Amino acid sequence: MTPKVARYLADTQPATPCLVLDVDRVEDNFRRIQAAMPAARIYYAVKANPAAPILERLVGLGSFFDAASFPEVSMCLAAGAAPEAISYGNTIKRERDIAAAFAAGVRMFAFDSEAELDKLARSAPGSRVYCRILVGNDGAEWPLSRKFGCEVEMARGLMLKAAELGLDPYGLSFHVGSQQTRTDAYEAAIARVAMLFTDLEEAGVKLRMVNLGGGYPVRYKAEVPEIDDFGAAIMGAMATHFGNALPEIVVEPGRFLVADAGVVQSEVVLVSRKGADDPVRWVYLDIGRFGGLAETEGEAIKYAFRTPHDGEEEGPVTIAGPTCDSTDTLYERSHYRLPVALRDGDRVELLATGAYVTTYASQRFNGFAPLAEHYI
Ligand SMILES: *Cc1c(COP(=O)(O)O)cnc(C)c1O
Repeated sequence: MTPKVARYLADTQPATPCLVLDVDRVEDNFRRIQAAMPAARIYYAVKANPAAPILERLVGLGSFFDAASFPEVSMCLAAGAAPEAISYGNTIKRERDIAAAFAAGVRMFAFDSEAELDKLARSAPGSRVYCRILVGNDGAEWPLSRKFGCEVEMARGLMLKAAELGLDPYGLSFHVGSQQTRTDAYEAAIARVAMLFTDLEEAGVKLRMVNLGGGYPVRYKAEVPEIDDFGAAIMGAMATHFGNALPEIVVEPGRFLVADAGVVQSEVVLVSRKGADDPVRWVYLDIGRFGGLAETEGEAIKYAFRTPHDGEEEGPVTIAGPTCDSTDTLYERSHYRLPVALRDGDRVELLATGAYVTTYASQRFNGFAPLAEHYI
């Protein structure tokens, strides 16, 4: 938690649950990833947290933006981004949303299928298009499975077709899964992309861009490699596979830029046991899966907690949210421990919750309001 967030929580005692996010930390993170990969152009994955103060700060820093939908395109424009700085990176778009983005000046689009390419040719003629290929997601704590991307052989045919359709066959992309803890996931994906680059050049289509997607991890409960480790692995692999004919390099960090800038503060609603001798206490918070902590599904993302009793004796706990839904249990199998002195009414903080939280909050499920947000 940054000193500015700690001071804000102490001074204002905001109603819980709430997210407090230090926009200066977003700027620090932007500069850190830029320093780790100086040859790359940074497209912020807006879906991680689309709050206007974040987008405005990043516009001021010269960031580019990866939008998942036309509303996200609009949010970037409203924050002052130029349309040329926006990539419409979702491979699944309604055709009228493609047309709306094109009318707004967006000229860079992702796709991973022939039907989507046809939509782009009709509704975004002449635009730069890049094809997303399937790559391994091993090592990712929030993997993306096979929903996005296509086989390399199919990508090859589609890039040839893109040129025939009058589109600009610009490059290739991949995404190694979010909260990716292994640098070699990028190295393996870069090797695949490089082979296809060569292959397409021989077929008469010279690509100019490699989009390495997101995935750069954040420290939650467990250590992860530093961004400099990812930068070194990525730039090393690019040099190995492309020599000194480096294409334009795009990275799309989401989580890395915003997660550790934010803290969710929550109030303990109840601490109880299921039997007198049960060693495990149940700790119910006023935020849960439906209040925005969707990434606790499958206990995938393991947030770190702060309590007023840190440093005192701890015991095993199951941690759950406040709704009358049994899936609203955050951690039951992950061996969380919290201080035995924890009581209802205590305020606890969930650290590094600036990414993928606010926009996952439900609309009044069980009557609870969406998460309050404070950008400082
Ligand atoms: C979600 C997403 C990102 C951001 O991923 P992080 O793991 O948050 O860095 C980047 N690119 C694409 C295409 C995405 O869908």
